[in-house]
Amino acid sequence: MTQEIGGFAALGLTQNILAALTAVGYEEPSPIQQQAIPVILAGHDMIGQAQTGTGKTAAFALPLLSRIDPAKREPQALILAPTRELALQVATAFETYSKQMPGLNVVAVYGGAPMGPQLKAIRQGAQVIVATPGRLVDHLRRDEKVLSTIQHLVLDEADEMLKLGFMDDLEVIFQAMPESRQSVLFSATLPHSIRAIAEKHLKSPQHIKIAAKTQTVARIEQAHLLIHADQKVNAVLRLLEVEEFDALIAFVRTKQATLDLASALEAKGYKAAALNGDIAQNQRERVIDSLKDGRLDIVVATDVAARGLDVPRITHVFNVDMPYDPESYVHRIGRTGRAGREGRALLLVTPRERRMLQVIERVTGQKVGEVKLPNAQQVLDARIKKLTSSLAPLVADAEASHGDLLDRLTADIGCSPRALAAALLRKATNGQALTLADVEKEQPLVPSSGPRDRGDRPDRGERPARGDRERRAPMPLAEGRARCRTALGARDGIAAKNLLGAILNEGGLAREAIGRIQIRESFSLVELPEEGLDRLLGKLKDTRVGGKPLKLRRYRED
Ligand code: AMP
Repeated sequence: MTQEIGGFAALGLTQNILAALTAVGYEEPSPIQQQAIPVILAGHDMIGQAQTGTGKTAAFALPLLSRIDPAKREPQALILAPTRELALQVATAFETYSKQMPGLNVVAVYGGAPMGPQLKAIRQGAQVIVATPGRLVDHLRRDEKVLSTIQHLVLDEADEMLKLGFMDDLEVIFQAMPESRQSVLFSATLPHSIRAIAEKHLKSPQHIKIAAKTQTVARIEQAHLLIHADQKVNAVLRLLEVEEFDALIAFVRTKQATLDLASALEAKGYKAAALNGDIAQNQRERVIDSLKDGRLDIVVATDVAARGLDVPRITHVFNVDMPYDPESYVHRIGRTGRAGREGRALLLVTPRERRMLQVIERVTGQKVGEVKLPNAQQVLDARIKKLTSSLAPLVADAEASHGDLLDRLTADIGCSPRALAAALLRKATNGQALTLADVEKEQPLVPSSGPRDRGDRPDRGERPARGDRERRAPMPLAEGRARCRTALGARDGIAAKNLLGAILNEGGLAREAIGRIQIRESFSLVELPEEGLDRLLGKLKDTRVGGKPLKLRRYRED
């Protein structure tokens, strides 16, 4: 067992879980894990204030798995999540952390998939159920005993669940579980409605919150890029083409990620190395020395391994994986801008982590502006600029030393000086793409695995704008929401409040359940909860607004 896992071992997790953590390469608990794991292990009810990106999933999954008995083949833990995406993500996390627990089964229960196999898995004794509330209630209607053996409940992203209108479903679910259970609630915010739930259904809960002290960040230019997780390595490669950096440190979360990114960078010819907790201390020092004296330009590190790293050459910090909290963000980006120099910090943000970005902005009191992935034209311009600056200093005396050779070669080969110079350039640039068409062909971005309806897909701005403007990306949709369209618009005298009123009254939704309403001249768009949408549209079938039929339909962008 490595020294860093000691951080987890000290929290009281079982050996099986510790072994799984070593396998995934986590080096130390995040702040929320540090605080929540002992509380949950001790069996207390708990309210945790944390958003995605803080490591909250492991904060409840690890202690719960330590408390579950795999020999008992019955549902023991229930995790409720607002959306299918999150439910699947949480279920995958449970599977990963329980790799060394034979007999432990996890079932994900969500709408849009057949109910039969889900119910079968529950009946066969899956110990962990990860569910969206709507679908779970459907199961309860068929079999009210489904949750009768649950001993641990987690409400994940409770505020999101309420926003999506799951209040009533939650009440049904609470009633179906034994009162003796342990209940844990995670929420990014604690509005009155969440406190009311906690008051009613949790027993003397302990509160856990990662204190966010205001931090100041000076002299560092900060930006963020929205990107899906599976495109991060490609994005880093592309960004590096256009960023003018001296030395750079890239932060990731796991040992494996340090190795993966460092080798991708090396393969592209960068002088890069990984720095993680598995690397012996003297070797770590060698890596840092190499970064200092220029034998290395890029170090890919975990937070633990980069502790105390102070290299004045660092001009850039790339936060490839989100830090766990604003303090750690400030700490990371403080690696650049040393000794009064300017520094630049870039943060990659996946769609689910946008909230964490807002927290960072709030705590640092600074806006972290958005940048887009460089397009092919920008990459090409940057390559040509580098070539120009590497060749320019040679031109002055090369003619004196190699001019005669040039004459001889052109004569021998029987070609023009231009043809020979072109051949030499091709050789010198090692087959690098140096025309727009060739750059466009390379680095294809891996198709995103995320939901299709977001406007943040990075490949949108990919092609250079050829005279006309880039296609305007649709407004990003929050997760768990669907966009609906009505043919009623401004020309029908419709205002947002008319639509809102009609949907609230006739659809029986809470105000929070309705997202953005956009009124256009000849139509309008409304954001509604994805779960139960068909039921809702059914209810609104005959609704009229301003005397005209509303006829709300699901809207597809493309
Ligand atoms: P979450 O906030 O639960 O969505 O977690 C965000 C990401 O952090 C996930 O990709 C986890 O795999 C990762 N993660 C969670 N805890 C740790 C840890 N202690 N060390 C490294 N990575 C972690």
